Amino acid sequence: MAGEKIDIETIKAMLNLSDEDLVKPLPIPTRWSQPFWDASKEHRLVLKKCSACGYIDHPPYLYCTNCHADEHEWVEASGKATLASYAINTFGVPFPFWVDLPYVVAMIDLPEGPRMISNIVECDHDKLENGMELEVVFDDVTDEITLPKWRPVDKTKRG
Ligand SMILES: [Zn+2]
Repeated sequence: MAGEKIDIETIKAMLNLSDEDLVKPLPIPTRWSQPFWDASKEHRLVLKKCSACGYIDHPPYLYCTNCHADEHEWVEASGKATLASYAINTFGVPFPFWVDLPYVVAMIDLPEGPRMISNIVECDHDKLENGMELEVVFDDVTDEITLPKWRPVDKTKRG
């Protein structure tokens, strides 16, 4: 489904929006998630693994949510995943995201354990299917923040 792209200038004028109204919110790294964002900036996907019990928390948290230990290591993820569930947003999102409509928000299962919320990109929306294989791609949205997103491994499903 190709979907009509929204002309944001028309919307801006119609609704009397300022440029500020169209600024996308960004993640705010914490001291315990900063290594995740630093790696992402280098186009590496890392996960926080508890040194005591081996549990992987995502999003990274201050301590292990399984056993409460605070010793941990950062491990390199495979960059592969499967699609658990998804929604195609076509309207009703905050103004900064109107330019991206229609876009896909998904729950993504990593083989390392965590379920991640992210976007599916470079995908033909008609070919989305739960269980499809995904691979990570990195979207450098600012100089400081790079967002890991996911695309189909199967090139025939890309769009
Ligand atoms: Zn633990």
